[in-house]
Amino acid sequence: MRGDSVERTAVVVYHSSPLPEPGSGDAGGMTVYVRAVATALADRGVKTDIFTRATSEVPAVVEWYPGVRVISIEAGPLEPIAKEEHRRYIPEFAAGIRAFAMAEGILYDIVHSHYWQSGVAAMELARAWSVSHVHSHHTLGKVKNSYLAPGDEPEPQSRLDGEDDVIRSADVLVASTDDEWRHLACLYLADHDKLKTIHPGVDRALFHPGDRGSDRVRLGLGDEAVLLYVGRIQRLKGIDLAISAFAELVPALDRDVRFVIVGGASGPYGEIELERLKELASRLGVASKVRFEGPQPHEKLPTYYRAADAVLVCSHSESFGLAALEAHACGTPVVGTPVGGLSYIVADGASGFLSESRDPTEFAGRLKTLLSDDDLRRDFGVCAVERAATFSWATTASEFHELYDRLLGEGLAEACTC
Ligand code: UDP
Repeated sequence: MRGDSVERTAVVVYHSSPLPEPGSGDAGGMTVYVRAVATALADRGVKTDIFTRATSEVPAVVEWYPGVRVISIEAGPLEPIAKEEHRRYIPEFAAGIRAFAMAEGILYDIVHSHYWQSGVAAMELARAWSVSHVHSHHTLGKVKNSYLAPGDEPEPQSRLDGEDDVIRSADVLVASTDDEWRHLACLYLADHDKLKTIHPGVDRALFHPGDRGSDRVRLGLGDEAVLLYVGRIQRLKGIDLAISAFAELVPALDRDVRFVIVGGASGPYGEIELERLKELASRLGVASKVRFEGPQPHEKLPTYYRAADAVLVCSHSESFGLAALEAHACGTPVVGTPVGGLSYIVADGASGFLSESRDPTEFAGRLKTLLSDDDLRRDFGVCAVERAATFSWATTASEFHELYDRLLGEGLAEACTC
């Protein structure tokens, strides 16, 4: 109920339910983010209702965590739909949320949307409920288009227009990094007073260093060198560069080496990309050394991170890069491109290596340096844990809590003092 302190928020994740396990389809970093922030806010006494479009007959209301409900609203067919079909059901979706709130007699204090389509739905909710609208983009169409992987589909104008609408209308735009802040300010000309940077976190109770040897045994790995990729399989993720670098590394290293790839196909071209990567590994003669594990339960990922000597993140662009942060929290160095949050997470030359160049030979060189030197790897691992220790979901949630309270009490200008 609208007092001085926020009690209940409506979170909108229109196209991507937080219920499925992350790692394939639409479920990835944003799923982990929305779950973690809602849980940490609930621990602070703030209740969250997460609204998503119903894609199956799952119960309409799921109590996901004490104080966190996931509410599936019927809008359009009860099945997954193509990306370009989503926009037409937004009005029905927003109307369904309003009807739900009215039927339950709930007054939300804040509406917080994730990704641009949710932002469009939330614009209407914020108006109808006379509450502040906080929006997190996670990815931006113009940024994706500027760093498009060869052969990847550009984001359509309808998305760019929708993002513009949300950027003009929302009260606060939350960026995960200062880079995203700059993208919003420079590419989208967002009002600086609306922009606030809040870093995502990591669950350090789950992701922490441990006994690498027993983790390897659990995964059927021995004492060979092990490289790891964790994330959805999409062209944007640059896994082709990782495989090409790996193929150059194999003959250059005087020990055996494996590349373990965790995650499933995502997006309309995900399956095609998965096949393309398998073909690439065969063509480069390393198929027998590359293990495609498919999506893995989030709780099992520490085992993978700890078993690995290095995690590869070669994305063309990233919203933040939670996999890199989780790897560091487990004490594993990261070799990757300086995209999204990676330059905040990875200390280049101290907890991993970051390279602007997308040259496989350069990546193979960095990997060889790391995999050939036990002391260097150990030092990088220690630094990685120190870096990760500066991030936590509790901190992220407390910054959101403060932002929401300020919006409720003092209004926009105060809310956005960064
Ligand atoms: N993930 C998972 N299981 C998998 C693959 C990935 O739980 O099989 C999780 C991973 O732990 C990370 C998230 O999915 O938290 C991916 O987030 P990231 O920011 O790296 O990439 P995004 O999905 O945002 O592109």
